[in-house]
Amino acid sequence: MQVLVLNCGSSSIKFELYDAHDMTSRTHGIVAKIGEGGAYLEITGPRGRTRRERVVATHAEALETLFAALLDPETSALSSLDEIVAVGHRAVHGGESFVESALITDEVLTKMQECVPLAPLHNPANLTGMRETRRLLPGVPQVAVFDTTFHQTMPPRAYRYAIPARYYETHHVRRYGFHGTSFRYVAARAAAMLAQDQADLRMVVCRLGNGCSIAAIDGGRSIDTSMGMTPLEGLVMGTRSGDIDAGVVLFLQRELGMSVTEVDHLLNEESGLLGLSGAGNDMRVITQRAEAGDPACALALDVFTYRVKEYIGASAAAMGGHDALVFTAGIGEHSARVRQMLSTRLSVLRIEIDEDANRETHGVERDISDLGADVRVLVIPTDEERMIVEDTLRLASLVPAAG
Ligand code: ADP
Repeated sequence: MQVLVLNCGSSSIKFELYDAHDMTSRTHGIVAKIGEGGAYLEITGPRGRTRRERVVATHAEALETLFAALLDPETSALSSLDEIVAVGHRAVHGGESFVESALITDEVLTKMQECVPLAPLHNPANLTGMRETRRLLPGVPQVAVFDTTFHQTMPPRAYRYAIPARYYETHHVRRYGFHGTSFRYVAARAAAMLAQDQADLRMVVCRLGNGCSIAAIDGGRSIDTSMGMTPLEGLVMGTRSGDIDAGVVLFLQRELGMSVTEVDHLLNEESGLLGLSGAGNDMRVITQRAEAGDPACALALDVFTYRVKEYIGASAAAMGGHDALVFTAGIGEHSARVRQMLSTRLSVLRIEIDEDANRETHGVERDISDLGADVRVLVIPTDEERMIVEDTLRLASLVPAAG
């Protein structure tokens, strides 16, 4: 009984196969560079990893290639496609149409189509993946799990921009937030670690990866988050600027004659840690170089952590206090240096960490708070795929995994 998790992007399809009985995954991979020269499939299965170059012009061909690879004796992932009992799709933008994950029907696809203007790069690829998978696996239930739905509980004071109402009412311009599947998983794990009900907890969750966002989760519900209508708002990220005066965008267009496409590229692809450091977007490299005295990397680290700190304070204030601060994703799980910088001089927010526990913690669940501290500081590895599998089994009315 296998559940296939698909993440269909504009030029790649990432996949992972889960055994629904024990929630383990032994097969995952990617079909990359779809529609570009040099497309390839890479699959890691029970018998190791294989990589094959082949011409893959469309998402339909990519999925056909993927299913053939799953059946290939060399990978021994599946003996028959009938073993796939359901498919869970990672979906980016559900707008206001979706407040939770959804079993995919024609109506759901139509509603997702209406959300395309909100995520013009991502939603069309998600939709193509869903339509093609329905064609190739007819009768197998499919579920869409959105990055946005978790934040649909935000109140208007958190999600409305202070611009005339018609832009919200007619064009749906508002804050939505992203990384919801990750926040949902991490919040549930945090409550389990603390042996408390989520309903009784106020959590600030810092999801620090290449994409970064923070959420204020009060009683298990997101009441505010740092990303906005698009994933560009909020924290400094690998290559995205995060918050920036909208006047800067006007300046770039008016004074420097930059086009919409150029500004889009600048803010999404050339900014953030990459733009500030000039040394790439890998936090490992940036912290090493900062420690070796590189001033641009030191500044990048400083701006990054300062912005997160501001948002930790804002999130705690939004909830009238906090009981737990949680770090997750690549940087949050692995960078003791960043976590240490973030907790320094935050005793005003009742945050004190145990330096030894912090230094030793890499990619495992652990409470790193100082013994006497009021606020529990937790490191929790994220697992969006597991959340997608759980939603998929539930919505497809299949027996959830034991334990
Ligand atoms: P995404 O947002 O794409 O899911 P990830 O959660 O995979 O990103 O995180 C990627 C980021 O995590 C990169 O900036 C990378 O440098 C950082 N990272 C991974 N391991 C470490 C580490 N040991 N120390 C510091 N940063 C790390």
